[in-house]
Amino acid sequence: MRLDRRRFLAAGAGVLAMAADDSVFRWQRFDVVVANGRVIDPETRLDAVRHVGITGGRITAVSRAPLRGAQVVDAGGLVVAPGFIDCHAHGQDLENNRVQALDGVTTTLELETGPVDVEAWYAERAGARLLNYGCSVGHIAARNEVMAGRSTTGFNGGLDQPAARRAATPEQIEAIAELVDRGLRHGALSVGFGIQYVPGSSRTELMTMFRVAAKHDVMCGLHQRYGGVLEPDGLAGIQELLAMALVTGARLHVEHITSNTGPLVRQALDMLEAARARGVRVTTDTHPYTAAMTGIESAVFDEGWRDRFRIDYGDLQWAATGERLTAESFARYRAQGGAVVIHLMRPEDVAAAVAHPLAAIISDGELTGGRGHPRSAGSFSRVLGRFVRDEKVLTLPEAIRKMTWYPTLIVGGRALAAKGRVQVGKDADLTIFDPARVIDRATYEAPAQPSEGIRHVLVGGRFVVRDGTLQDELAGRPVRRAGPAL
Ligand SMILES: [Zn+2]
Repeated sequence: MRLDRRRFLAAGAGVLAMAADDSVFRWQRFDVVVANGRVIDPETRLDAVRHVGITGGRITAVSRAPLRGAQVVDAGGLVVAPGFIDCHAHGQDLENNRVQALDGVTTTLELETGPVDVEAWYAERAGARLLNYGCSVGHIAARNEVMAGRSTTGFNGGLDQPAARRAATPEQIEAIAELVDRGLRHGALSVGFGIQYVPGSSRTELMTMFRVAAKHDVMCGLHQRYGGVLEPDGLAGIQELLAMALVTGARLHVEHITSNTGPLVRQALDMLEAARARGVRVTTDTHPYTAAMTGIESAVFDEGWRDRFRIDYGDLQWAATGERLTAESFARYRAQGGAVVIHLMRPEDVAAAVAHPLAAIISDGELTGGRGHPRSAGSFSRVLGRFVRDEKVLTLPEAIRKMTWYPTLIVGGRALAAKGRVQVGKDADLTIFDPARVIDRATYEAPAQPSEGIRHVLVGGRFVVRDGTLQDELAGRPVRRAGPAL
């Protein structure tokens, strides 16, 4: 009998496919099984009911047939997604981790205003976080150390305001670049910038940092120099970034595009698309709120801010108390310093960015003693509940892509290669939620109110949220770039 080779191969493939889904797992017992959920994996575009088996912190089965496990959670009617990756999270302590976990986040990355001492940053968090953590090396922090001789964790507290407005000498630029280079050698994921907070930074200084990033093939994440609608406006800020990326070859990530461009956001997004079409490697992110938040003492509020952003004192809300400001209280708080919520964006501009394929979903959030901006606790559930389910601004699989797999591509390299995917061999970071119920509950008045509808969250196979209840599992692990030996 003549063997039909093609038919034989087809039959073989069929057996293999069946084996991969069914019988291979029949005798296995997994640590954890997530049964009957609608599994959405953006990279492979899987969107189907599956059973997920977890062993030793990794996904070891994604099966059509039921699996046996030491622990089994029924995810019938729920979505099983890769754990959400917040690549713009300022809140990096347990207080923030608790609300982030209940919002479905499994990995929080501080990529805008990272530290200068990367080793110390990771050491401080080792074994002491619910969620995975990672950072950039911060240009602001490195600059402040060189220019003012003190360390700062970002744009609030410790940032020397006169030094922030002063140009660096060639020697100082060299010293800042050396600190940035050291941070990358110590495993920082990227270089983080906030030019608007250190307006003394010259083109030469910034280009020097971009070249360091290009040498290590890491991304530059920037809060741009200009914002608002008056020249030089938010688009001028983006042009500066695109030019630096084009000239140096460094990958560019434009942070919170809505906050700086406001009503110009569609033009800004068009610019990024056009630049990509011409070979510039650029991405962006946005949170789903019409208000921003920053330090009232910062250069953002230098003379002319009301015209620049087309807002007034009453559009500012003091984070510590929730009160709206007046000319008098603005002057008082600016002298004192602290976080202020800025109501400045139109809902249609936020929706345009949330829906745009180049924009990752992020929180940009930080709570301190329960006070702050609701984005810390509600960003991801707000997108899923309000923008996907209620307003149909984007589809559920697309929203999940922007929260999981896409951020791993933004960061690039191998540090996040095992995250953002529901696939065999990947880290068992999973977010399991009820698509009919998921919604944010945090408000400007009660910003720490946790989201609803996130049923289970696993970090490395351990439950951080179970049946909607926070577990005290310090499951977080460092996400770090594997650089050359020191
Ligand atoms: Zn920023």
